[in-house]
Amino acid sequence: MNFLILFIMKFTLPALSYAPNALEPAISKQTIEYHYGKHLPAYINNLNQLIEGTSKEDADLETLMRTTDGAVFNNAAQVWNHIFYFESFSPEGGGEPVGALRSAIMTRWGSFSAFKEAMNKAALGLFGSGWVWLVSDRKGHVEIMSESNAGNPLTKGYIPLLTFDVWEHAYYIDYRNRRADYLMHIWGIIDWKLIEQRYLNRLNK
Ligand code: MN
Repeated sequence: MNFLILFIMKFTLPALSYAPNALEPAISKQTIEYHYGKHLPAYINNLNQLIEGTSKEDADLETLMRTTDGAVFNNAAQVWNHIFYFESFSPEGGGEPVGALRSAIMTRWGSFSAFKEAMNKAALGLFGSGWVWLVSDRKGHVEIMSESNAGNPLTKGYIPLLTFDVWEHAYYIDYRNRRADYLMHIWGIIDWKLIEQRYLNRLNK
């Protein structure tokens, strides 16, 4: 007799490497509680329900993103994008990248401030909901890409290095409608050591 039906959900919410209030004032504890604590689990639950019992049940996130569209793609990509986004920050973050990634940025934009301006411009210019990405190709050339809704440049063969979530839910609690203020502040919490590691690891992908 079954006393308990145990649901083992395929995708689960990963822990943050920082406390919910650790990114303040750039991102408040309340935003983390809603964005990480409610939006991301909703995407995870949706995805688990959508793939349960289907041929995609055992696929990993990247495979789901590359091989599906519609609701499965949207939820898989939103799970991937949010985990990647929350991993990119640190209370000790900010400043500028060094080493090979810095060189690649210099080659493409001439200066870190020109890169920052280009990223902000793309993020401010993205109409509606979406994600702005710093990506690399396998050769190490870096570029900025704007993606609407759940879009992710992995599906176009690029390697994501950094992303800014510009859905309103990412900033509305802290900045209301002021996307520019949100962007200005999140530069101060970017974990460039991790972003650089993603750049160096690109050939392992
Ligand atoms: Mn979001």
